[in-house]
Amino acid sequence: MAKYPHSEIEKKWQDRWARDGLMRCDLSRTKEKFYCLMMFPYPSGELHVGHGRNYIIGDSLARFKKMAGFEVLAPMGWDAFGLPAENAAIQRDIHPAQWTRENIKRMKEQFHHWGVVYDWEREVTSCEPDYYKWTQWLFLQLFKAGLAYRKAASVNWCPKDKTVLANEQVVDGACERCGTPIEERHLEQWFFKITAFADELLADLDTLADWPERVVTMQKNWIDRSTGVEIEFTVKDTDRRITCFTTRPDTVFGATFLVLSPQHPEVERLIKGSKREPEFRTAIARYQADKLSGKARTDPGKDGVFLDAYAINPVSGEAVPIWIAPYVLMEYGTGAIMAVPAHDERDFEFATRYELPVREVVRFGDKEGVLPTPSYSGDGTLVNSGAFNGLGQHDAFEKIAGDLEKRGLGRKRVNYRLRDWLISRQRYWGAPIPMIHCPKCGVVPVPDSELPVVLPDDIDFRPRGDGKSPLATSDAFRVVKCPQCGGQAERDTDTMDTFVDSSWYFMRYLSPKDSTRAFDKQLCDAWLPVDQYIGGVEHAILHLLYARFVTHFLKSQGFISFSEPFARLFTQGMIQKNGIKMSKSRGNVVPPDTIIGPMGADTMRLYILFLAPPERDSEWNDESVEGCYRFLNRIWRFYEARADILATPTSGKIDEATLTAPERELFRKTHWAIDRVHNDVSDHFRFNTAISALMELNNVLAPFGEESVESGGPQRAELLRFTFDALIRLLAPMTPHICEELWERTGHRESIFKMAMPAANPVFVKAEQFDLVIQVNSKIRARESVPSDTEPDAMKAIALRHPKVIEELAGRDPKKVIVIQNRLVNVVV
Ligand SMILES: [Zn+2]
Ligand SMILES: [Zn+2]
Repeated sequence: MAKYPHSEIEKKWQDRWARDGLMRCDLSRTKEKFYCLMMFPYPSGELHVGHGRNYIIGDSLARFKKMAGFEVLAPMGWDAFGLPAENAAIQRDIHPAQWTRENIKRMKEQFHHWGVVYDWEREVTSCEPDYYKWTQWLFLQLFKAGLAYRKAASVNWCPKDKTVLANEQVVDGACERCGTPIEERHLEQWFFKITAFADELLADLDTLADWPERVVTMQKNWIDRSTGVEIEFTVKDTDRRITCFTTRPDTVFGATFLVLSPQHPEVERLIKGSKREPEFRTAIARYQADKLSGKARTDPGKDGVFLDAYAINPVSGEAVPIWIAPYVLMEYGTGAIMAVPAHDERDFEFATRYELPVREVVRFGDKEGVLPTPSYSGDGTLVNSGAFNGLGQHDAFEKIAGDLEKRGLGRKRVNYRLRDWLISRQRYWGAPIPMIHCPKCGVVPVPDSELPVVLPDDIDFRPRGDGKSPLATSDAFRVVKCPQCGGQAERDTDTMDTFVDSSWYFMRYLSPKDSTRAFDKQLCDAWLPVDQYIGGVEHAILHLLYARFVTHFLKSQGFISFSEPFARLFTQGMIQKNGIKMSKSRGNVVPPDTIIGPMGADTMRLYILFLAPPERDSEWNDESVEGCYRFLNRIWRFYEARADILATPTSGKIDEATLTAPERELFRKTHWAIDRVHNDVSDHFRFNTAISALMELNNVLAPFGEESVESGGPQRAELLRFTFDALIRLLAPMTPHICEELWERTGHRESIFKMAMPAANPVFVKAEQFDLVIQVNSKIRARESVPSDTEPDAMKAIALRHPKVIEELAGRDPKKVIVIQNRLVNVVV
């Protein structure tokens, strides 16, 4: 049997869609707008079929929405700065810009060959000066608002990538990119004050009803708001205070010692001039060295030193010893904790090791017990707590907090796990930070009129590892005049985290060539939030949190009128082969051309959409790919067998009353399929079940290709036109080339994607007959074709008089008969 000429057809339509600008969007048509956004990729090279899922889902949805009458915006661009491109370029000894440009070209060709069409007039490339000029502008807006600041801090350092990383880029103590255990370095860096938006970023998660629940939960846990109390302990015989944050003020009577971070400022005052000063300094130096080598991360230990000093517990008046230990981090909370070993596991270990007192202060039930009641559950009762004895934990929290507040020794505080976003990178391939360091004026922003600060391309761009970016080696770049005093000054030589580039790109698509501003407020307000965002779940915290932050910030400044960028989010699952994620290093990738060559892009698309619910991880299977190819060939053969009558478009008018019984079944099946595809695709991404429905429809249709037309009723030809028309229109978003070709061959001049989707008539959606499943004790015993909507009693009667059931019952009465309308009867014996 001859196969359909997919290569010829696919090339023809790919070229025509490109020529005609199929997905060109008219932004003035905002009434029925649909902004369909796929996360823009790193231009990292060849895409394999695993990558394809994201784009094929997005393209199919965009085409579907276009046919459903929406003005669809489907743009694409390149997240082109950053480590992946730079590392790959270094490996190949070429410039990152060249590597990036070549990949962009190659990936665009791939999209073209997959029939994935975008509005390319809106392409944005984050490494081009006309884009990063506005990333720098964004930095300056944050700076002007006091939300970009420079601070010396212990930061995460990846020794392999030779750059600092944001907390979000450290996974289990290792670099998110290369997996190398991170080290700590003390460096002065730029931060964005994302914590200023912690509350609203958290609260607004509840408005994102159309986001996957697990992504919302991950963001909630990352921001992690907790209410607690800052408690002031006074250093004995001084008026100096040490502030400890605790979420458990109800346990303050059980605080039997304090632990300070070795970097806590009070430490210096306590040890200076003390008898054991040299010993203390040695310990602190050792902790610092462990930290730098990464040892402190992998083995936090319970190492600590008593500083020969005491602090006064503000509620009990008791003097408690002050210790230092590396397990308390200066970066978290206040850098000092009140240790309650009876009710905290880590404190308990420490107390046990150094034989410090353990005092129970919360009791659960009647049982006296020391450990562990680690969490604040609210149903314990206070003991050993002076005037607060007998109170429930919740009351104790409020009363102790109130008492401390009144006496000026404490205050309630909300604390977040979320830290400010560290955005400096000591790498070459990024947007230069638009700031100047002047010996006289301090840190001075580059004036807007001098943007962009262009990344020089004539320097040695390899990372250096001395905590400075390669840009520091270029005098031509580094040395500038101070914009404020005109004296000699230096540019900031770090570049920005690439997640800054991607935090606002979805706004740039609306006016990508505007040289006067980053984005157009009016267009943004009309087209955003994005109606459907599609991408990988690996961005659940990183990109999706940063983009939300920047959008909230821009709203707070009046630049836009909405605060959430993405109304709906869909995260696709991975495609695996042999049970593991496809990757080059594992050698299990399926190159798309191995499918497109012999079977065509439509087959690849169909298979990727058909293989499983798209949100799930799923296993690639070569045989099922062939099944999809056969399905498309069957449709093609049907057309060829009936080309004579399919050459004219359907009138759409069919009188059901004059159809023969098999024709009526086909007619109803067609309405059913229309209804199914609408439901499955438009809101639920169930491409796989939509395709099954179309396969079912095709199974009913196919036999009509073999009979002669004359053997049918008077409307046979019209019915076949009607069904075939619906079939290819419904299938078109998923397998666009073959459907566009068949559309043209069946007498249409305009592109199928300018047509509306067929609409189902609810009257005909139900099949006239259905297969009643008859079970005995939940095992299928028979099937019988009965009219739809047969009453439950009638269904029961049909089952009970079936010979198979009579035989099984053997004269007994059934215990129970379960009826599910339009589906089954189960006789329980
Ligand atoms: Zn790394
Ligand atoms: Zn100056």
